[in-house]
Amino acid sequence: MSETKICSKCKKEFPKTREFFYGDKRSKDGLISCCKSCQLKTNANWAAANPEKAVETKKRWLEANPDKMQAARDRWAIANAEHIKEVKKARRAAHPELFRQRQHEFRSNNPNYNKNYGRNWRATHLDRARKNKKNYWTNHPERVRVSNRERYARKKGAEGKHTEADVLQQLELQNYQCCWCCRDVHNRYTVDHLIALDRGGSNGPENIVIACQTCNSSKNNRHVFLEWLPPYLFMASI
Ligand SMILES: [Zn+2]
Ligand SMILES: [Zn+2]
Repeated sequence: MSETKICSKCKKEFPKTREFFYGDKRSKDGLISCCKSCQLKTNANWAAANPEKAVETKKRWLEANPDKMQAARDRWAIANAEHIKEVKKARRAAHPELFRQRQHEFRSNNPNYNKNYGRNWRATHLDRARKNKKNYWTNHPERVRVSNRERYARKKGAEGKHTEADVLQQLELQNYQCCWCCRDVHNRYTVDHLIALDRGGSNGPENIVIACQTCNSSKNNRHVFLEWLPPYLFMASI
């Protein structure tokens, strides 16, 4: 058995290996008759002459080799990253509703994605993350207070949760007056737990009222009526 093989097309001599010749199970030596570059050229010429068939063939081959298809996709995505970005941006701009819907679906199917994304972003943008956090808290004072109460509730082992919206609703309901002395609280109010958290009260919306700072401090963790009487009772009698 000779160590080399002559290409049937270009007549050049090559080592008789799979490196230079494609395999062919039906042939005697297990290799096709022409060299790799001649075969590639033949394939390219055929594809140029039969574009539709070429696409079909390629598709069938990729479907039969899913791992190779994924690898080809990955290679394509890396080589065309900029192009993909542009296309996605244009699509988002053209179909904002669809995009939002997909994003929503993706988020509900991947609950950890946002958490991890945020964590990674913060880890790589320390200064900006710190600044954003500071700005956020400065611009959302009520949210800060809600958070503080949540932390306090956790410490006390209290159940329930209320939101900024619950606080605003309660303010409206009480017409911006202290629950215990009827003083106007437009400028300064506190959220008071009807039953104090350390006396078994919940942090839920059903247990919060709006009170002025004075009443809140005065009542502290005492039970209303049983241990502490609201000032409006006395005010009514004068
Ligand atoms: Zn050749
Ligand atoms: Zn008051």
